[in-house]
Order: sequence, then structure tokens, then C-alpha cells
Amino acid sequence: MELQIVSRPGGNVATRSTPPESHWQRSVGRAVRDPEELLSLLDLPPGLLPEARRAAELFPLFAPREYIARMRPGDPADPLLRQVLPLRDELVTNPRFSADPVGDAAASCSPGLLRKYRTRALLVTTGVCAVHCRYCFRRHYPYEELPRSLQQWEPALAEIAADPTLDEVILSGGDPLMLTDGRLRELTLRLAAIPQLTRLRIHTRLPVVIPARVCEPLIDWLRGTRLAPILVIHANHAAELDEDVAAALARLADAGVVLLNQSVLLRGVNDDADALTDLSRRLVDLRVMPYYLHQLDRVAGAAHFEVPEARGRELVKQLRRRLPGYAVPRYVREVAGAESKVPV
Ligand code: SF4
Repeated sequence: MELQIVSRPGGNVATRSTPPESHWQRSVGRAVRDPEELLSLLDLPPGLLPEARRAAELFPLFAPREYIARMRPGDPADPLLRQVLPLRDELVTNPRFSADPVGDAAASCSPGLLRKYRTRALLVTTGVCAVHCRYCFRRHYPYEELPRSLQQWEPALAEIAADPTLDEVILSGGDPLMLTDGRLRELTLRLAAIPQLTRLRIHTRLPVVIPARVCEPLIDWLRGTRLAPILVIHANHAAELDEDVAAALARLADAGVVLLNQSVLLRGVNDDADALTDLSRRLVDLRVMPYYLHQLDRVAGAAHFEVPEARGRELVKQLRRRLPGYAVPRYVREVAGAESKVPV
């Protein structure tokens, strides 16, 4: 039986042979792609359908059922729904919002390799994700140009090996955990053979949207690498972190993986002090450190999510009053060409 994973336009399309078909792969295969089904599952007005269909033509809807199950039925303003439902607002053009807001094209070296900051290199491992976030800063990324086999990764690996100043590699995407554990283990083995590397960082939304992705083979290769594993998850609202996610994060923490979270400040999702406080508290209780709160990257189609920086600063001030210092994320924005994230 063959399982097909649908990607965004231009993204990789991963197909894998089963059996055995693992639980998380089944979840990806069963994800909701049709706006009509999403509206019907949540008892939402069918009047939303025409605009959802039009916006989904530019960036398809993709939402796993276990993620949808955490949304409130009948509420078009649900903070999880807002992250995945295509809206008319995405069709509005705004000259301040572009296809490449963070300068990925200028930072690109060998195929799949981005160099932005000293000592770290980033591999865009795949264009496939387990959820399509409407505000994604890489929603227009040219994923079709990425390497698709270990052989095609050779130039990037050679460039990393040739630079003694690097000590950390970041696996990003898309979502790197959409690759099979076999592929990830292979790639990690090659990275671990580069002596100057000491850390492996993985940016992923999978433990949040499909917690079953944190399966035994994943834990095995994370435990088995000599590189110190750091997993940066992406949650924007406490309602995303249900008991299944909590169990998945506990498995990772118990395996010695350092867990960090990055959020994006999003209008209508988490732009109030209570939502951000609840998120930080929940993360810390789950042994995940709130790392970054990102100002929205100005990507075309996402202008309606932007929160003014003055409002963001006020929210962070309130968080400082309510939370211990370690639970307050750093409020930053990414500036194309800058040597690090810029504090807001
Ligand atoms: S924000 Fe992350 S998980 Fe969401 S669509 Fe973009 S790359 Fe994929």
C-alpha cells in the first residue's frame, strides 16, 4: 500500500511504501485538505467556503485531524482554526509584504544550505509539512530546488565540513520530521562525522500537530547521535498543547533532548497577555523553555496577522510582570542580512 503526502505548490511530495504504516504517517495521509470538510467538521457557516477555496488555491489547506479536534466547534475565531483556515485576507496584496521576507535567497549557498549566522548552518531538508500555517514565512519558498537524496546533499555537507567555525547544524524545512527516521538517521550520521559539529538543532511543528510522530525510532536516533540534540517546537497557543502533546514532549525530555519553543505573535491567535501567559506556563510545565516570540515575518498573504510592535512590547511587559524571567520568551524579529535575530 502506498501512502501519499501532499505538499504545498512547489514543495516536495513524499511517497513511502508501507506496511507497516506507522500511526503518524496515517495521520498525515488522513489530514483534511478540503475547506468544505474542515467547515463541516467544525460546524462553521458554509458562507466561508468560497473565500477559503480561493485562498487555498494559492496555498493549500492542510490540517491533521488530531489538531482539528482541539478546535472549538462553531467558532470561526478559534485561535487554532485561524492558523489553518484559508481566508480572503490572504488575497489582499500589500507592498510591504513579499515572497522572501527574511532573505532566504541571499543566504542560500549549496542547494538546501542557508548561511545566515556565524557558527550555525541551516539545512532546508524538505518542503513538506504536517500542517500549513497560513502565516508561514516560507509559504513561497522554491522547495522544488531542494536535494532529494543523500547524494544530492553532498555539496552542502562538503561546505559544512570545510568550515571549522561551524559548531551547529539546524534541520529546518518545511518540517524535517516529515522525513522518515531512516533518512534522518542517515543524514545525522553524516553530520556527526564532521568533527567540529557539536549540536544538532531541529525546528519542527510535528510533535505539536501530530504527537504520534514522537515514536520509538525517532527517539532511538536522537539518543544515538553524538551530537547534542535540541528540538525547537512551534506552538502559538496553550490550546495546542493537549495531553497527547504533553506525553510526546515528556518522551523527548526523558530522552535527554533539550526542548525549546518558538511562537509567532499573531493577530486573533495569541495577541493578548492571558493567551501568552497561559502558553508560557503550559510550556514550562511540560519542560519546554519559551525561546522566541517572533514578530510576524512580512510574507505576502499574511498581512492580516500582523500585530504592531508597540502592542507586542506592551504584551511582553505584562508577561514580565506575571511570569518568572525564564518563562518570558525573547521578543525578536528577523531582519534580512542581520547577524542575529533582532530584539524588538
Ligand atoms: S510555519 Fe513551519 S510547519 Fe507551518 S507551514 Fe511553515 S514551515 Fe510548515
